[in-house]
Amino acid sequence: MLELNAQHIRMHQSAPDKPAALEQIARALSADGLVAAGYLAGLQAREAQGSTYLGQGIAIPHGTPETRDQVHSTGVRLLHVPGGVDWGDGQVVYLAIGIAARSDEHLRLLQLLTRALGESDLSQALRDAQTADEIIDLLKGAPQELALDGKLVALNTEADDFDELAWQGVRLLKRADCVAQGFGQQLSIDEALPLGQGLWWLSSDQAVLRPGLAFVTPVRPLVHQDQPVEGLFCLASLGEAHRAMLERLCDLLIQGRAGELSQATSSRAVVQALGGQLPVDWPSARVPLANAHGLHARPAKVLTELAQQFDGEIRLRMADTDAPGVDAPGVSAKSLSKLLALGAQRGQVLEFLAEPAIAESALPALVAAVRDGLGEAVDPLPEDSGEPLAEQPPAAPLDSAVRPPAAGTRLQATAASPGIAIGPALVRKPVALHYPERGDTPDVELKRLDAALEQVFREIDTLIAEAEVDSIRDIFTTHQAMLRDPALREDVSARLQTGASAEAAWAAEVEAAARQQEALHDALLAERAADLRDVGRRVLACLVGAESEQAPDEPYILVMDEVAPSDVATLNRQRVAGILTARGGPTSHSAIIARALGIPALVGAGEQVLALASRTPLLLDGDRGELQVAPDDAALERALALRTQRAERQRLADERRLEPARTRDGHRVEVVANIGASGETAEAVERGAEGIGLLRTELVFMDHAQAPDQSTQEAEYRRVLDALEGRPLVVRTLDVGGDKPLPYLPMPAEENPFLGVRGIRLSLQRPALLETQLRALLASAGTRPLRIMFPMVGTVDEWREARAMVDRLLPEYAVPDLQVGIMVEVPSAALLAPVLAAEVDFFSVGTNDLTQYTLAIDRGHPTLSAQADGLHPAVLRLIQMTVEAAHAHGKWVGVCGELAADAAAVPLLVGLGVDELSVSARSIALVKARVRELELARCQVLAREALSLAGPREVRAHVLEG
Ligand code: PEP
Ligand code: MG
Repeated sequence: MLELNAQHIRMHQSAPDKPAALEQIARALSADGLVAAGYLAGLQAREAQGSTYLGQGIAIPHGTPETRDQVHSTGVRLLHVPGGVDWGDGQVVYLAIGIAARSDEHLRLLQLLTRALGESDLSQALRDAQTADEIIDLLKGAPQELALDGKLVALNTEADDFDELAWQGVRLLKRADCVAQGFGQQLSIDEALPLGQGLWWLSSDQAVLRPGLAFVTPVRPLVHQDQPVEGLFCLASLGEAHRAMLERLCDLLIQGRAGELSQATSSRAVVQALGGQLPVDWPSARVPLANAHGLHARPAKVLTELAQQFDGEIRLRMADTDAPGVDAPGVSAKSLSKLLALGAQRGQVLEFLAEPAIAESALPALVAAVRDGLGEAVDPLPEDSGEPLAEQPPAAPLDSAVRPPAAGTRLQATAASPGIAIGPALVRKPVALHYPERGDTPDVELKRLDAALEQVFREIDTLIAEAEVDSIRDIFTTHQAMLRDPALREDVSARLQTGASAEAAWAAEVEAAARQQEALHDALLAERAADLRDVGRRVLACLVGAESEQAPDEPYILVMDEVAPSDVATLNRQRVAGILTARGGPTSHSAIIARALGIPALVGAGEQVLALASRTPLLLDGDRGELQVAPDDAALERALALRTQRAERQRLADERRLEPARTRDGHRVEVVANIGASGETAEAVERGAEGIGLLRTELVFMDHAQAPDQSTQEAEYRRVLDALEGRPLVVRTLDVGGDKPLPYLPMPAEENPFLGVRGIRLSLQRPALLETQLRALLASAGTRPLRIMFPMVGTVDEWREARAMVDRLLPEYAVPDLQVGIMVEVPSAALLAPVLAAEVDFFSVGTNDLTQYTLAIDRGHPTLSAQADGLHPAVLRLIQMTVEAAHAHGKWVGVCGELAADAAAVPLLVGLGVDELSVSARSIALVKARVRELELARCQVLAREALSLAGPREVRAHVLEG
């Protein structure tokens, strides 16, 4: 949908003439990825057909039907030109609204604009506007707000039939001065619209004084046109004032939440559900939010704790939102779930409203706490704040009709946490909790709920005390805050008034709150929704008295769909030998928890593992990503011996981890670390890294709800360089797109995301994003050794374009020790290495992708990925070509894919002449130890021989022999 948004207005621009203005607009649309470069021709062609001048200083340049294929996604970008641009025929434009639309979606926008243009001439006001918000207000023509408050709601009204109920609604509208005499006669009862779930809708735009909505429910069940009547809306319609409310109502209906209206016990609940204005006319104070991740769980919790110290109501709303229905009344600042549901992001302005009795003390304290970062270190705010959020697809349900893997089966899964684990399976599947829908009196049910909340709170206290890891403790503290959420309890207690059982009321309210958070389409809030459901389930289990399955006495392997935070309770390292999950990847909750606790784990093993019988003996290898079901004695013995051997090898390697790696004949190979977050640097150095060979910067971007600004990024990169103390840092610029989407970079769905807009392709389509990142990198480096590389380069042009940007920016920064190179991940880059080597400073071979593209096997394919072995001679040949070309030009080559840590691959990579191996921090000591076992001359022979073998199996066998 085309929406006007202050972030999309470029204020105070100048353009000498119309062609220049069109160029600027095309650039703005294309910089934000809405259109391809060819769209400019469309804008020009459209103006040639007829001017897009709309009147009152506004033009709406857009493309022609022929250039619609140049549109990637629909949107508008506005150019504010206070100096004016001659749009032809003496018409002067102060605001050009560049539209990218594939169809006639711009007509809706036109509709909106014409309303604004109907009033007095806007051109002067547009010219003089100082802020983007002023422009938005002018364009929206400030429509009258829909009246919707407690006075317009009547619950359980006496009415014998539908007509009488309608009359009650009209009476409310009249009393609120929304309608004049005659409105009632205009309402045609016959045209009443059933909305479903017992709700009805009546509306008229005749005799309307101001837009308003009344809602009435009958005290006794009614029937109209053979359908039940549980609630009736009467709308006094004027313009679009009711649009936001209507959208909200539709959402409620779609979510099956009509009962929240028809069964409401207070007018406040109705008004709140529909986003109406609650009666707060209290002192207020505003403060911009600077927390990098917005008002996420931790700062929100700090805020609720502070608000709870004041004895009176405090509400919070977003001061800068343009969705009045959602935020105007604000939410309780004491409610964690409500605060999270606001979805406040960095850069947005929060407005606190406090009851007059406490305002004087509460408001300054709240504002100061937000300014201080609510317990987090905050960077100054950016000038611009990101892009709209994209939708996250929900996880697909697992199929329950799968067969378990047979005894003796070996399964490949994602290695998530290293180590060998042996033990019986404890398969934990979600159990259905049964409970009655109706309960005792509200008082009795509330007492039961409170007792359960208290019990779970105390259980979590124990978990917090026992938690050895900060990140896990944090999760539990958030869960406790959710249990103490007064708004959640209030909503549940309102539901209890309808006769619901504590279980039913609790389950329904938790689900409603979780959905509300998910509806904000923010990855972080979606995680919070998972937390809410998780803690909600704990309380529910406590209410129904459910007991979990008895764990085996000996250390066991926990088999689950995914490990939820509350499962950590069962993850005692002494009791849980290993973790095996059906879903999840290396970065899923399960993997993170397992690594944090040091428990060997495999994730994403597929739903078949959930079908395993509990107590089936399992052997899990978290290094190789391998599972053996009911292994025989010989396999167990081998595994135990391997475990002892690995432990000894690791101990010896660790002793020499800080020494450089040289082959027996003195050939030096640099061993550096792959990291994903700045905080990992010190540990990598401690584990023997001679530098960072791959900083995957995606996390810097994924950790934020919007594109991190330069200062946020700079701080991250500086942290890495500081911790490196002069050791070199190789940074890969943002590698997202396709399979790794960013929530705030909406991308059209692609049929083949691995072959689509990802890596450098995406960065070149969003040059502003790349430029900010490069600036942050250059600014953070100073005199320290910085290596920048671009991911997924497949053509010489891509490399040149990216390099040109570095060259353009470089004069603004003093970075004497800079090298710029590319990752070799696409076969074309390896094949073109002789050309590229003349221009780049270095190559780093990303064998994960290079293997997938060379062998045409999706690296994450559930059944094929095990065959995507980087020791395939085809991949080795490409590495050989890359190294030869680089060395011929005096350039160095690293390998930063998983292959670099593969003990069988190390001799071959060294033999091929690779200069640097970049591996995960925990592999450094072992890779160095492996290099020390080798002899360069022998490796060269081995590598040459490997190139002429048939496949990876043969190569591995050859290395073992040789
Ligand atoms: C690679 O492809 O080998 C690589 C290191 O990049 P990533 O795994 O992040 O795609
Ligand atoms: Mg890659």
